[in-house]
Amino acid sequence: MPTRSLTDIVSCLSDYDPDALPVAQAQQIIHAFLKPLHAVEKIAIRSALNRVLAADIISPINVPGHDNSAMDGYALRSADLSENVPVTLKVIGTSMAGSGISDTVSSGECVRIMTGAVMPIGCDAVIPQEFVTDASESSITIPDGVVRAGDNRRLKGEDLASGQAALHKGRVLRPADLGLIASLGIAEVPMQRRLRVAFFSTGDELRSVGETLEAGCVYDSNRYTLYGMLTRLGCELIDMGVVRDEPTLLEAAFRSACENADVIITSGGVSVGAADYTKQIMAELGDMTFWKIGMRPGRPMAFGRINSNNKSAFLFGLPGNPVAVMVTFYFFVREALLYLMGAEAHPLPLVPVKSQSDIRKKAGRTEYQRGILSRNAAGELQVRITGAQGSGVLRSMSEADCMLVLGHEQGSVKAGDLVEVMLFDGLV
Ligand code: AMP
Ligand code: MG
Repeated sequence: MPTRSLTDIVSCLSDYDPDALPVAQAQQIIHAFLKPLHAVEKIAIRSALNRVLAADIISPINVPGHDNSAMDGYALRSADLSENVPVTLKVIGTSMAGSGISDTVSSGECVRIMTGAVMPIGCDAVIPQEFVTDASESSITIPDGVVRAGDNRRLKGEDLASGQAALHKGRVLRPADLGLIASLGIAEVPMQRRLRVAFFSTGDELRSVGETLEAGCVYDSNRYTLYGMLTRLGCELIDMGVVRDEPTLLEAAFRSACENADVIITSGGVSVGAADYTKQIMAELGDMTFWKIGMRPGRPMAFGRINSNNKSAFLFGLPGNPVAVMVTFYFFVREALLYLMGAEAHPLPLVPVKSQSDIRKKAGRTEYQRGILSRNAAGELQVRITGAQGSGVLRSMSEADCMLVLGHEQGSVKAGDLVEVMLFDGLV
């Protein structure tokens, strides 16, 4: 349970103004109010992809388990080599990968060895087979100067020593991590349980896909973008549909969400002129603030925690406009959910690239414009914006491959100026 109220938290900020709140301050208040979840379950490796590790994974073995060869060739004793003349060695056997401990090699001898095979006792280097001259079943000749002590040999425990942490608590597991855990012979891993997120849309003009669209109505798209964004973050979802703007229906929806989820996300009904009951019901059920954030799109947002029947849940009331939903999700909710899941925080990188055009921008708010990257004639990255930037133009998000983040202090941009972008795609 969180210990501090929102009033406590904002009273520590000297210049707090809920009607003109800078993005960074809103992020700070959210972070201070949240308390990460602590609930651990042991699950099989494959199910752990994209989920948050709840404890360090300590390696029970050395990786690799033995000194072994990094090449196909011959394992030898470097002391047998001579500075200026070729050397002939007797081949006393073969060491294959997986065949266990092999021969002991004496002075003047060598062993034919395959990649990954255990180094014979006495050997400290491997000469790749293509460097050997006069190779026969029984002997090889090595030109001078082609191999030195330690060459092409991998040492026991050099990737990971027994007792060392292979992965740290809080890590969101990626494909390489699954392989790493398997390489240690570990079948089950302690993971944070998935965060339960309930979400619904509010607004009497909304129709669900499949319903008839009467004049003045729009299809509810926010639940679909939210579904996508929450699924990518690995949350367990409770989709509560569209909730009509009636106090009893809204209260029932908020209470049910609160009793069944860790976090509630709604869209719509929090803007300044909203005639909806959404804000009123939120405020009645808990400790909530209603902000006008210095940003575009996404100015109105509600945040806090509501209670019902001794259960509580954090609540993000996002604006209704489809692009504003995505922007407020990515720049407030995403990091908040990761923090609640116990994930280690990795700020997403901002990459400076040249703007292809002038962009009008007022200092005193953060703007998130949708962009498309390309390369100019000199091969440098450049960005153009995706046409109309209205907060209802969802196509702008769909067409974009990056978000221009024009900071709070920044004024207008001239073509050729550097702007910071956040890429939508990453390798892993
Ligand atoms: P509101 O924040 O409720 O004033 O809504 C702002 C705008 O977003 C209005 O034009 C709404 O029709 C639209 N909107 C609200 N919720 C949704 C939704 N779930 N899907 C699509 N558009 C929405
Ligand atoms: Mg509305």
